Amino acid sequence: MKDKKIPTKIFLEEKELPKFWYNINAIMPEKHEPALNPKTLKPCTLEDYKEVFCEELAKQEMNMTDEYIPIPEEVQDFYTMIRPSPLTRAYCLEKVLDTPAEIYYKFEGNNTSGSHKLNSAIAQAYYAKKEGLTSLTTETGAGQWGTALSMACAYFGLDLTVFMVKCSAEQKPFRKAVIETYGGKVIPSPSITTKIGRDILEKYPNTGGSLGCAVSEATEKALETPNCKYVLGSVLDHVILHQSIIGLETKTALEKYNIEPDMLISCVGGGSNFGGFIAPFVKDKINGTKNYRIIGVEPKSCPSLTRGKYAYDFGDTGKITPLLKMCTLGSGFMPSANHSGGLRYHGMNPIVSKLYHDGYIEAVSVEQTKVFEAAVQFAKSEGILPAPESSHTIRVAIDEALKCKQTGEKKKIVFCLTGTGYFDLKAYSAFNNNTMVDYIPTDADLQKGFDTLPNITYNK
Ligand SMILES: *Cc1c(COP(=O)(O)O)cnc(C)c1O
Repeated sequence: MKDKKIPTKIFLEEKELPKFWYNINAIMPEKHEPALNPKTLKPCTLEDYKEVFCEELAKQEMNMTDEYIPIPEEVQDFYTMIRPSPLTRAYCLEKVLDTPAEIYYKFEGNNTSGSHKLNSAIAQAYYAKKEGLTSLTTETGAGQWGTALSMACAYFGLDLTVFMVKCSAEQKPFRKAVIETYGGKVIPSPSITTKIGRDILEKYPNTGGSLGCAVSEATEKALETPNCKYVLGSVLDHVILHQSIIGLETKTALEKYNIEPDMLISCVGGGSNFGGFIAPFVKDKINGTKNYRIIGVEPKSCPSLTRGKYAYDFGDTGKITPLLKMCTLGSGFMPSANHSGGLRYHGMNPIVSKLYHDGYIEAVSVEQTKVFEAAVQFAKSEGILPAPESSHTIRVAIDEALKCKQTGEKKKIVFCLTGTGYFDLKAYSAFNNNTMVDYIPTDADLQKGFDTLPNITYNK
């Protein structure tokens, strides 16, 4: 039943938009262990990071003390074109589910990239331009990040090369067209344009590629191109910092109507939207002022939180990125080709991993056919075709709402709807034709990935 006091869409005014990002690292009861230089096995220094990353982003990555970090005015200006994103009360979904629960979602798909990725892409392109760079490289899996970064690079006048996981480039030719429209250059990975790509192709000529491999290629290319740096759309702490805009807006919108959430739910790939969405809420949880349930959702086919090891690992297949202490399946883990819902990265952001390890957040894993059932139910009732990644979240939100139906509890469920699924119609078709299959790795399958872990510990 529609509650007259709470509108379907809760908007913020432009003047209410956040002027600072929120840095969870500043308030972690125990900091996560530092990233290590893969050559020296010593904590990465600013100099180490600067070899590959923009200086300002490297500084943000290392910032463990400032709780609020100012959003540059140029970035704020861009944000006002695409933000605030609405917080929507899912009245229609609640009705279909016949649940006493209140369901709210923060919708991040209302821009051409179709996802939250633009929040960080625009910040990263801004710092690159300010530093005097002329080009950037990156990798993209499902394609949202490549699209977002191509938009950001076009806005600030930077050249961009995107290494796109080969099977994804083949499945989603229109993603490539969008990136090219914004001036980005797309290279299916592995490619013959890098040494690492050529090595991988020699060993596995028919491989469809992986994110880990695309990261290696993009990093190699950045290192050998003058005035060029590599940027990353997830996994690192500075990306979560930029994505905190999602959580900050959500919190302000909820407070306008005195809505106290019981649960905050979002999907975890590399952890960026989840970390950003929960950032200001985790603060309350750490302080002990609130006891929200905070739930990360991952695919059963790539279960880095629920079945991974908490260990130092490489971010890429070529083993050239810094070592991160994280929940990981091993950089050699190859997700099933049958898994079409994104969220295929072997590791997890160090903050999210630490929060999980220390018990501040929960994690749930879900099977892809159940995910698409939830996607269709949501699409039919709320009018938005959700991204497969976001549909993992919807699955768990619906399950929690159905539990409330059993118990009669009026829980308030708030989730992040990270994006739209217009480029994922092959996956939707497979679901509609009943050809979609679930794949759950056996312990032996996972062991193959764990065998690639480097066995490194850090002693202070
Ligand atoms: C990239 C992406 C994700 C997962 O990435 P995170 O870094 O974990 O947020 C989720 N949903 C959408 C729509 C995406 O594009």
